[in-house]
Amino acid sequence: MAETKVTVYGAYWCPDCRRSKRFLGEQFIPYQWVDIEQNKAGEALVLQKNNGKRIIPLIVFEDGSFLVEPSNAELAKKLGLKTEAKKIYYDLIIIGGGPSGMTAAIYAAREGSDTLLIERSGLGGQAGITVGLDNFPGFPEGIGGQEFAERITQQARRFGVEILQAQDVEKLMMEEGYQEVYTSDGRHYHSRAVLVASGASYRRLEVPGEDDYIGAGVHFCATCDGPFYKGAKEIVVVGGGNSAVEEGLHLTTFAEKVTLLARSDKLTASQFATDKVKEPASRIEVKYNTAVESFEGRDSKLKAIKTRNLKTGEMAELHPAAAFIFIGQQPNTGFLKNYLEMDEYGFIRTGHDFVHAKGNRSNFDALPFETSVPGVFAAGDVRYGSTKQVASAVGEGAAASISIRDFLRKN
Ligand SMILES: Cc1cc2nc3c(=O)[nH]c(=O)nc-3n(C[C@H](O)[C@H](O)[C@H](O)COP(=O)(O)OP(=O)(O)OC[C@H]3O[C@@H](n4cnc5c(N)ncnc54)[C@H](O)[C@@H]3O)c2cc1C
Repeated sequence: MAETKVTVYGAYWCPDCRRSKRFLGEQFIPYQWVDIEQNKAGEALVLQKNNGKRIIPLIVFEDGSFLVEPSNAELAKKLGLKTEAKKIYYDLIIIGGGPSGMTAAIYAAREGSDTLLIERSGLGGQAGITVGLDNFPGFPEGIGGQEFAERITQQARRFGVEILQAQDVEKLMMEEGYQEVYTSDGRHYHSRAVLVASGASYRRLEVPGEDDYIGAGVHFCATCDGPFYKGAKEIVVVGGGNSAVEEGLHLTTFAEKVTLLARSDKLTASQFATDKVKEPASRIEVKYNTAVESFEGRDSKLKAIKTRNLKTGEMAELHPAAAFIFIGQQPNTGFLKNYLEMDEYGFIRTGHDFVHAKGNRSNFDALPFETSVPGVFAAGDVRYGSTKQVASAVGEGAAASISIRDFLRKN
């Protein structure tokens, strides 16, 4: 993990503290958390910076400057994130800065296309929050997710890709032959082609208390938040698939014990990962047929997890230092509702998944990676039928950029 350069002074009961911590986490900005309820020096600093008032969060930066109760936009500005594009028209706008979007951007910009990439969170997407990539070709010893994210971003910048951060694309529409891409700051940009590479997000349990304790005991990213629990007696991991098992194994580097709650009577992770859990030295205990009923807390901090055995109905209570939830993903396609053809879960259909039957392109086969809207392409985890791996996301980004090049030449 990179050196801590930002310190957040706050309290667990403070929603703005949680929002700021979440924003920093999403932008992969390492920070130190000081709970002023527990730390007298921290409380004194807050009072000193606020003329005797207890206003939080107080966020102190490396150079000693600070912000009090900042909005996400103020934080983005202070951190030097570029949130506004230089121009209004581009050849290609890419939505999402994960492996797929970054690769497509590298290909397109290297061939001379004017390319804007818009990312709402940390550059590198899900790859940036993984502990390490062991299966990406070319790195025999593996590579840290964060390092991979930084390298791919540097490469995109080298070829002149313009990158916006901390901007959510909220809407896409067609006007006078151009795609119009609307961002969360109220601006919009036009382009001849769009690549949707918005990936997927963590699925939530949707049980009582989950939302209340996000960032305060309930987490979705072991790399980002695991180190906060160094020396903890127990951490709970919810899920039984690859992510849950791999991240659970990683969390044993911080906690004495990891308890894995799996809904079914066996793990669905790969045999390799499952075998590692079963090793006597793994420090992981698996509770099978177990569902989370609720997260309970005090002073806005997680204190207990209520569980139910799905076979016997028996209720139990666990008191871990934290819970990490890894139960799969959902595609980030809410902003495309009613615009593109998707499957029932929201994954985008492309290419041979259908034949265009609209406008002047009726009965015209879509290009590979082209969606039901001509000129709009999709690649990576967001695409129906994708294989949810970094190597395949990178490959899809490259292949989609070649389809986009064909489209731009012909239209
Ligand atoms: C914990 C974990 C471990 C993993 N381990 C491995 C592994 O070991 N090996 C492997 O090959 N794969 C692994 N994966 C999977 C791999 O990370 C993904 O398959 C890959 O990152 C997908 O790339 P992508 O570019 O399609 O999407 P993503 O990486 O999801 O990137 C999409 C980006 O789009 C952004 N975005 C979404 N909506 C919007 C919007 N409206 N406006 C602006 N931006 C938006 C998101 O913030 C995100 O950064 C792992 C994933 C996780 C979560």
